[in-house]
Amino acid sequence: MPTIYIFDNQFIVSIFGCGKCHHIFGDNFLNFRNALAGKKLYSLPISKTPLPNQYTLNMNFAPNDNQKMIAQVCRDFADKEIRPKMMEWDESQHFPKDLFHKMGDLGLMGIYIPQEYGGSGFSYFEYVTAIVEISKVCGSIGLSMAAHNSLCTGHIYYHGTKEQKEKYLPKLAAGQHIGAWGLTEPNTGSDAMRMKCTAKKVDGGWVLNGTKCWITHGISSDVVVAIVRTGELLDSKGMTAFIIERGNPGLKAGKKENKLGMRASETAEVIFDECFVPDANVVGGEAGVGRGFQQAMQILDGGRISIASLGLGIAVGAYEAAVKYAKERQQFGQPIANFQAIGFKLADMATKIEAGELLTMQAAYLKNEKKPMTRESAIAKYYTSEISVQISTDAIQIFGGYGYTKDFPVEKFYRDSKLCTIGEGTSEIQKLVISREIMKGNI
Ligand SMILES: Cc1cc2nc3c(=O)[nH]c(=O)nc-3n(C[C@H](O)[C@H](O)[C@H](O)COP(=O)(O)OP(=O)(O)OC[C@H]3O[C@@H](n4cnc5c(N)ncnc54)[C@H](O)[C@@H]3O)c2cc1C
Repeated sequence: MPTIYIFDNQFIVSIFGCGKCHHIFGDNFLNFRNALAGKKLYSLPISKTPLPNQYTLNMNFAPNDNQKMIAQVCRDFADKEIRPKMMEWDESQHFPKDLFHKMGDLGLMGIYIPQEYGGSGFSYFEYVTAIVEISKVCGSIGLSMAAHNSLCTGHIYYHGTKEQKEKYLPKLAAGQHIGAWGLTEPNTGSDAMRMKCTAKKVDGGWVLNGTKCWITHGISSDVVVAIVRTGELLDSKGMTAFIIERGNPGLKAGKKENKLGMRASETAEVIFDECFVPDANVVGGEAGVGRGFQQAMQILDGGRISIASLGLGIAVGAYEAAVKYAKERQQFGQPIANFQAIGFKLADMATKIEAGELLTMQAAYLKNEKKPMTRESAIAKYYTSEISVQISTDAIQIFGGYGYTKDFPVEKFYRDSKLCTIGEGTSEIQKLVISREIMKGNI
């Protein structure tokens, strides 16, 4: 059944029941509204005539009580545990593993994992809220939290067998174990189908060889989910995901990257050197052999909501700092916020942030509803990543010379934001995904 919303008293938008949208304008709208007067405005069967332009909107994105509570918990935690130390971590590229154990105690390391597996059992709305709130303060911590929750933990939750979930999720969700997820290789980033890491079948398991690079928590993780080749090159059914535990003698950490931003989020190579992995650790069991690429693409659909939330959080952090500074900083005898050039920048920032919030929540809604959301998550990721960079750049401009120093937070937002346009699919790849969806008729 489609859902119906009255939007701005001008037209009715129905969505999500069939993935299509229906508009009713003018007199038809008035007749329809009168007919509906006093009736429940949802779950009404209506015609499914597709229109050339389909919109997907959910008008009820007001934060629920859980989101408000989580936002407060994250703000308090970030003020106490992250803000005072984040520049030191940033300077020294220190990955504060202990911090993530504490975040696990708060339920932030398995936010949407059901309680039966030790998680917090929330929806993607609460997950988005948590990532946004943490990233408003520090993008590095937001990125690590996102990679742990939606990549490694998410892959085992969505695609693992019951035994794998029971074995790995409780410790991951509690933050006792830190997760990593490896798809990217030195020669295959966007073009993951050409991956060269291999797993060869042997008695009782598989032997993995090759190098994954750019892996978040590549050194410090306790559990790695890696997607490697088990079939022919370019065969989408020729890849399989494996769970590899730290301590396995064939699992080695390689070079740690020295990055522009996100410096407290560890990024490193993961090397498989004759790494034996038992059959029991093929994600999804026997049925998971050859399913690694499909699983990874689904995980990236959800991961893109994480990066959208990360970009959004960074954008909001930069915007709030810029608003405060623009009101305080005096030039020509008045606050610089009084100058239209600055006020308009702030107006643009606010507009972009609200649009980004709606797109991200729309994708989260579809994820919660278990509806297709490849298009929507790519749109949310693409848009919020780009505005994150634009807003943090403008924030530096508003701060003038002070924005160019490490005495104020905006230079860090600026450096951190750039990752959002690259990780989990670059902006160009998001446009590729969106355009493919359009060509499939999902316009
Ligand atoms: C901080 C950080 C953390 C990361 N964490 C992880 C992780 O935990 N796990 C993991 O697996 N990976 C991780 N990555 C890797 C990340 O997902 C890749 O960097 C990303 O997918 C891009 O791949 P690439 O760097 O090889 O760039 P390339 O694929 O080489 O792209 C280079 C440029 O070419 C463009 N391009 C490529 N193909 C096309 C095309 N068909 N059309 C148009 N333009 C194209 C790209 O948009 C880009 O601008 C991380 C990266 C960073 C920087």
